[in-house]
Amino acid sequence: MKIIRHLTPEGRPGWAALQPDGTARAIDGDVLREWRVTERLVATGELLAPVEPVTVFGIGLNYRKHAEQLGIALVERPLVFMKSINAVQRPGGPIAIPRTLASEAVDYEGELAIVIGRACKNATRENALSFVLGYTIANDVSARDWQFKLGGGQFCQGKSFDTFCPLGPVLVTPDELDDAAALRLETRVNGEVRQEGSTADLIFDVRELIVFLSASKTLLPGTVILTGTPGGAGHTMKPPIYLKAGDVVSVTIEKIGTLTNPVILEA
Ligand code: MG
Repeated sequence: MKIIRHLTPEGRPGWAALQPDGTARAIDGDVLREWRVTERLVATGELLAPVEPVTVFGIGLNYRKHAEQLGIALVERPLVFMKSINAVQRPGGPIAIPRTLASEAVDYEGELAIVIGRACKNATRENALSFVLGYTIANDVSARDWQFKLGGGQFCQGKSFDTFCPLGPVLVTPDELDDAAALRLETRVNGEVRQEGSTADLIFDVRELIVFLSASKTLLPGTVILTGTPGGAGHTMKPPIYLKAGDVVSVTIEKIGTLTNPVILEA
């Protein structure tokens, strides 16, 4: 099933299930609690991030080829960081280059995102997918100067600016994608392909990430896990190429869709 969250004709946020014929049926309830797909057709309005996360975990250096490109030894266990939830942005909403606390090095990272739907502790590989509500696309936007030089060795500062976590456009449930292995991922800036990869290249796959994270932390409903990015981010180019106002970033993942966001200078 493909689920969207959108502004309903009444102007309120609501979920709907997209049908194969392009129509949408309203969902009653809250997809992180009790919910059901109704027979009611609903006109779809502006798309919102498919959930309002309670927590966003990010995973670093999780693509084999990316680590090899950077000449970095493969990590022995998932490298976990956090993005704060103020950073969430809707599909089509702008990525704002910060100007008050300025950054000269705002960069994209196209990623598969896992959305947890049921509280989860000590998951096993066998039951891990039963906690997954669905998969969506994320752009783990990062201010590289604040991430690497000015953030005191913590990623949180450089990855948590407002608008730095676009999510969407849809949530695809595991009955369609299973563990989301071997999906092609591509990031384009102004139409030019910058990142190409496959989730088959993940060092720690969807099941393993849920097992690892839930071994120490209860994953609450609404937890979003960004699974890492393949090679080709702007800071790995020689010379680096960072985002600027007027750019448009699109992340496409096979069988999920395309998440597109324009870049602006903070108002
Ligand atoms: Mg990332």
